[in-house]
Amino acid sequence: LKPAVLVIDVINDFVSGVMESERSSRVIRPIMRLLGHARRNGIPVIYASDSHTPDDREFDLWPNHAMEGSWGAQVVDELKPQVGDHRINKHCYSAFHGTELDVLLKGLDVDTVVITGLVTNICVQHAAADAYFRGYDVVVPSDCVEARSDEEQEAGLRYIQRNYGARITTSEALMKKPL
Ligand code: ZN
Repeated sequence: LKPAVLVIDVINDFVSGVMESERSSRVIRPIMRLLGHARRNGIPVIYASDSHTPDDREFDLWPNHAMEGSWGAQVVDELKPQVGDHRINKHCYSAFHGTELDVLLKGLDVDTVVITGLVTNICVQHAAADAYFRGYDVVVPSDCVEARSDEEQEAGLRYIQRNYGARITTSEALMKKPL
């Protein structure tokens, strides 16, 4: 098992900006602990964050958010990337679509992605789908992802588990082992 931890869209606009949800900040502390554990064990940490331009397709459906170079597109202060972490800018829901993520993971010899961040039934789910299609095993610690309601959270996790064979677990359980 060669895991990497993905941190999807824990950026200002999703926590306290234009797309904020009071539930979003719940993931910060568990992700912080999990990233500490990963870094101590030499497990790669990869941030995949929205970095939009005005003509991006998402803006047919959502308000403008996470504009390239803006405060809203920055990872929240509590989870600031550290030296040695990797960063990917994405332009739509999936962290794989049109990005170098797959090449990066292959270069790191990763076969398992531990997916954390926002939003469970949108960007997390699309990352899980594309990871599955590309042959990676998917693990989701449920306390490290959030959606806009309990229903969406549970439906998202169930979908990811059922359709991509993901292991749904908790950060506590993951940290009992090196990952
Ligand atoms: Zn977006």
